[in-house]
Amino acid sequence: MENKLQFYNTLDRKVELFVPNEDGRVAMYTCGPTVYHFAHIGNLRSYIEEDVLEKTLRYMGYDVKRVMNITDVGHLSSDADTGEDKMLKGAKREHKTVMEIAKFYTDAFFGDCRKLNIKTPDVVEPATNCIPEFIHMVEVLLEKGYAYLAGGNVYFDTSRLEDYYVFSSQTEKELLVGVRDDVEEDANKRNRNDFVLWFTKSKFEDQALKWESPWGTGYPGWHIECSCISMKHLGEYMDIHCGGVDNIFPHHTNEIAQSEAYLGHKWCNYWFHVHHLTDKTGKMSKSKGEFLTLSLLESKGYDPRVYRFFCLQSHYRKPLEFSYETLDNMVAAYDKLVKRIGGLKKEGAVEQEKIKAYKQKFEAALCDDLNTSMAITVLYDMLKEDMSDASKYALAEDFDRVLSLDLTTAHAEKEAENKVDADLESYILGKIEERKAAKKEKNFARADEIRGELLAKGIILEDTREGVKWKMDSSWKKGE
Ligand code: AMP
Ligand code: ZN
Repeated sequence: MENKLQFYNTLDRKVELFVPNEDGRVAMYTCGPTVYHFAHIGNLRSYIEEDVLEKTLRYMGYDVKRVMNITDVGHLSSDADTGEDKMLKGAKREHKTVMEIAKFYTDAFFGDCRKLNIKTPDVVEPATNCIPEFIHMVEVLLEKGYAYLAGGNVYFDTSRLEDYYVFSSQTEKELLVGVRDDVEEDANKRNRNDFVLWFTKSKFEDQALKWESPWGTGYPGWHIECSCISMKHLGEYMDIHCGGVDNIFPHHTNEIAQSEAYLGHKWCNYWFHVHHLTDKTGKMSKSKGEFLTLSLLESKGYDPRVYRFFCLQSHYRKPLEFSYETLDNMVAAYDKLVKRIGGLKKEGAVEQEKIKAYKQKFEAALCDDLNTSMAITVLYDMLKEDMSDASKYALAEDFDRVLSLDLTTAHAEKEAENKVDADLESYILGKIEERKAAKKEKNFARADEIRGELLAKGIILEDTREGVKWKMDSSWKKGE
């Protein structure tokens, strides 16, 4: 039986069979990060799940083109956004220019993605690259009567649409109004949900990046960038648009409003949304002050892949609560799993029929609204199966095309790391003995030389009452 991919389409509020516009090809778009700070592990949950969706499509043989924006300008959607401009706030905090901040946090974001085995999308486009495209779309929206000028800014007129709230029913509609608690009223707007397409006058007067436009010097609103960047690379029809659930309203609602008003036809067929990672206090957010980053987990000794494993054990459509206790359980489970797979002999006869049956089961789990925890159960089941090592190894390698947990290589890598640690320690202990002997012979020059040799390698010796102690200089970072 051939598997068919189904997943939850927020647009129709149900799990649906996926049928792309073009046979065998998928046009996919992902809302990228706002690069004024590190991504928190909640943001990264969304990117992990979207990566699984992309890899499932590829596993099933689709030719996927995936595009992602980088919000380096234009994260404001109306003058009613409170507080400070986030990019500018980041720049001030770190005494850097806005573009330096954007570059630094874009690199940091892709560094995190690499550690989590998240594939880089085929196209990554910063918003600052597409100013002419934004201006063009705003011009067309004004010409078509979907936009108006007020107080120096260009706004989208939501009252021109028959159904602005495409994602929600009547009751949800009421709940959604004013859903963002960080918003005040903007007196220029004709309707409550109108949003800015282009700013020239804003209370954020000290905005660092500005461009010439037919409406004066200014900068784009937030929503316009995703519409333009996706159309630039994927054309007028898109199959899947992804993001976290917080993007449903107003961001994705506004993207649809302006894109369909601009194009004059339906734009994207499937909307895939990932639910939030929470902590004990609720939704994780960057504005809350202290927030959990991947580097923080690493500094506590967690392997980033364990965080991926943790995410894959839950369903993307359920909120997931983060706790160190759960993560600790995942460490043990992940280590055991990769050790088990690492111990398989990869050479030998493979049982094609059994392999086929397990691939079928694995794919069926993913096709069932991306049931990753079931897919992992299939992995455990196949390891228990009466089957040759070579078959199991081949299957683990195959499943890893989607799971991306380094199933067949992680154990050997960990062993090698442990060996380096053990070798280094015995080298240092040898040097300490040699130094002790030199001191005993009153050869202080040699003793100092040994201390210097170690220091050059980032190893610090300390003579204490209990004997010689050593440590690695903490300012030294591990190379890639
Ligand atoms: P941002 O950088 O704030 O634009 O967010 C990047 C992505 O992370 C978006 O798709 C958001 O919807 C998503 N996101 C934000 N907070 C969370 C969270 N707590 N859990 C999961 N995804 C989130
Ligand atoms: Zn977006």
